[in-house]
Amino acid sequence: MDRREELFWKKVAAPDERGCRKWLNELTSTGYGKVTYKGYRTTAHRMAYILTNGPIHADLVVMHDCDVRSCCNPDHLKAVTQKVNLADMRAKGRAGDCRNFGEKHGRCKLPTGKLDEVKAKYAAKQGSQTALAKEFGISQTHLSRIVRGVSRVQG
Ligand SMILES: [Zn+2]
Repeated sequence: MDRREELFWKKVAAPDERGCRKWLNELTSTGYGKVTYKGYRTTAHRMAYILTNGPIHADLVVMHDCDVRSCCNPDHLKAVTQKVNLADMRAKGRAGDCRNFGEKHGRCKLPTGKLDEVKAKYAAKQGSQTALAKEFGISQTHLSRIVRGVSRVQG
């Protein structure tokens, strides 16, 4: 384990009664752990997954089995495609106000917190517009409008 990895795990709490290991540092407005690792910004649970299982494909999202957004226990995490993740969210009734997931529609409304997340990720060059659009379940057109600051909430 290198020094950075050690520092990372120091910011993760001991397992609680459900086995969840919560991120103790800064959280995003949507409740995910925020981390900067080797110069790029990502979420703590994604980092935890990568540190444990090795690099994952940029198209995959790291999903919580436990639904605790700040949880960094690798046993509670799995890498899935965004399609599976959204289907899971829908199944659990957590789709928020985003009704149209189809990339064709591109009318999916992102909650304000998500907007900032999209912009931050884009600014940090964490993915192409296409990859980010996919990750957030919106169209590339919509995403490009968001990052240009044209669109606030409506597609
Ligand atoms: Zn958990």
